[in-house]
Amino acid sequence: MLVVMKQSASPAEIEAVVKRIEGMGYGATPIPGGQRTAVGLIGNDGRVDTASLQGMPGVLECIPVTHPYKQVSREWKEADTLITLPNGTVIGGRGVALMAGPCSVESEEQILTAAGQLRAAGATILRGGAFKPRTSPYSFQGLGEEGLRLLAKARELTGMAIVTEALDADGVELVAEYADIIQIGARNMQNYPLLRRAGQARKPVLLKRGMSATIEEFLLAAEYILAEGNPEVILCERGVRGFDTQTRNILDLTAIPVVKGLSHLPIIADPSHGTGLRSKVVPMARAAVAAGADGLMVEVHPNPPGALSDGAQSLFPEQFEELVEQIRVIADAIDRAVIPALPEAARV
Ligand code: PEP
Ligand code: MN
Repeated sequence: MLVVMKQSASPAEIEAVVKRIEGMGYGATPIPGGQRTAVGLIGNDGRVDTASLQGMPGVLECIPVTHPYKQVSREWKEADTLITLPNGTVIGGRGVALMAGPCSVESEEQILTAAGQLRAAGATILRGGAFKPRTSPYSFQGLGEEGLRLLAKARELTGMAIVTEALDADGVELVAEYADIIQIGARNMQNYPLLRRAGQARKPVLLKRGMSATIEEFLLAAEYILAEGNPEVILCERGVRGFDTQTRNILDLTAIPVVKGLSHLPIIADPSHGTGLRSKVVPMARAAVAAGADGLMVEVHPNPPGALSDGAQSLFPEQFEELVEQIRVIADAIDRAVIPALPEAARV
């Protein structure tokens, strides 16, 4: 529930509401807004008796938050959440953020080559898995911490921010030491100890939608992270399981406007895992931007046929370059803009 304060409410009146809510056995979070402050009530499982709050000095109204998720909802916070990375990239505003890179970090040469190519093409965030959640235990599992070190080197040389996956709760701290964004993969969307640990980290989290998760389950997973005190969550639509075998997954583009309506958190799209096929990545990336995605995460490899994972869905660098040019036009048509490329000086 939200207790909306009058514009004229004094700090003491707000404090009194916080105390009253705490006295009722709930948590209270003041949410300052442009016009007025609201106090969010957390920890309730059902209806709250608002009678004693309604009449308090400075209280305008009590609004029930009707969704099971609270802090991620638009009712809780109307304005879009903006997430600013150390290299200046802002996710969730007017800009469309470009995250690109290979599925896995394979070697120094591979990741530095990819970073140079992608930075030049306009991406400001480099992706690459060091800890890989592979369907088969016999597939390449990633370079581990060495992969994180190589990503950090790529950041040093290019200025790109780094996004990479933490596979389990105990891995969060190590990934957070190196990464600018901690990725939580689709298979882990409902790994609650991992979500809680990511909620305690002081880095933004990229949360991918589980392949069989409803939008409500997706938002509730994000709620775990916010509930632990980390408000910087980027949602990622990466395709859900369908009945058709033509593509690896079905990229649910409808989720983009639906989530935008329900939540203030930014949402990006991953057309690579969303389709599983190189030839389908570009059209779906274009469509995702047209649908209002705040960014894209695209797998690109300097030599896709030689990739140790997901080569079939990885773009060639020239394809990514062309895609960025097309996306600029699409973004412009809907009054948005691709986030400007990093300055020349930072190039490899
Ligand atoms: C990835 O982005 O590297 C990945 C494994 O994706 P997902 O969790 O969406 O399958
Ligand atoms: Mn992959």
